[in-house]
Amino acid sequence: KQKQIINFGAGPAKLPQSVLIQAQKELLDYNGVGVSVLEMSHRSSDFIKIINKTENILRELLNIPTNYKVMFLQGGGTGQFSAVPLNLIGLKEDRCADYLVTGTWSQKAAEEAEKYGKVNIVHPKLDTYTKIPDPSSWTLNPSASYVYYCCNETVHGVEYNFIPETNGVVLVSDMSSNFLSRPVDVSKFGLIFAGAQKNVGCAGVTVVIVREDLLGHALKECPIVLDYKVQVKSNSLYNTPPCYSIYIMGMVLEWIKNNGGSAAMETLNKQKSSMIYDIINNSNGFYVCPVDVDCRSHMNVPFRIGKKEGDETLEKEFLDGASKRGMISLKGHRSVGGIRASLYNAVTLEDTEALADYMKEFLKEHV
Ligand code: PMP
Repeated sequence: KQKQIINFGAGPAKLPQSVLIQAQKELLDYNGVGVSVLEMSHRSSDFIKIINKTENILRELLNIPTNYKVMFLQGGGTGQFSAVPLNLIGLKEDRCADYLVTGTWSQKAAEEAEKYGKVNIVHPKLDTYTKIPDPSSWTLNPSASYVYYCCNETVHGVEYNFIPETNGVVLVSDMSSNFLSRPVDVSKFGLIFAGAQKNVGCAGVTVVIVREDLLGHALKECPIVLDYKVQVKSNSLYNTPPCYSIYIMGMVLEWIKNNGGSAAMETLNKQKSSMIYDIINNSNGFYVCPVDVDCRSHMNVPFRIGKKEGDETLEKEFLDGASKRGMISLKGHRSVGGIRASLYNAVTLEDTEALADYMKEFLKEHV
């Protein structure tokens, strides 16, 4: 039976219904093994098959070149804010890294990196996280160990629609909230990481894709669980991995594959986000999205209601009405307020239409 609730949460977020049903079916007895994946040794042949299958589908979906390694780690995106500098800032003697800070998540990553080396913010500081500074204003350090950016800022709804040019310096990207929402040329990156709990699974596992030649440069104080070389060498099984989350991810990846892969996800995601942005653009300022048009996220659509800085009474009324219609988790991040509709892969066109219809109705009632 189709669920009555539509979840627009920013993560953990909606999962494909078919994946939940499959997980339910297999909860007590996985594939006739007689135990649940929740109870299985991470060293059992059954679990090894699960983790290998998950990696293989991921490689296929993103066309990951053979000189890239894949890890399934714990510690979330936040763990990677530390792991990236701990493993990569020592690539060059100077221990400098370039950061693009376009929202909360890249800001946190930059602050964490400062513990381990010198951080250079490559562009003039932004007053508001509503834009991506033009590359002509960036001052990249040619001897930086790496250049870091967050491909989609989940809180502010700011997404890169281009890959930064680093002139040969290793490029690192946090793709937590737009991973597999569109195709990506992995070969342009030194490292990509993404927490699973938005587009590719449930909380607990973070995917890291790293170019082989970047391994082996960890600082000596790097905790062993965060050491990429150690984790790669043991196939993410140095210690107990987040087994169940890896299993769920495998099923979500299979679902993406069966639904046309990353290119099909992109088409659908563009259709969904345009539906909402069109309403905002045509509302005569009733709905306001503060983000520059060319970097508006296809994943997280933030907007205010009533006026530019938001009319909180109207916004509360909007959220209450949405909730009565079964649409939940539309409240903006506590740091910015307003509304945020997250439209990850598992959110359907029909789900988005329900929101669009409600937005049109709410507009009509109030102007
Ligand atoms: N990066 C991005 C882009 C995120 O959206 C988030 C979480 N919402 C994080 C990093 C942090 O992830 P975690 O909570 O898994 O540490």
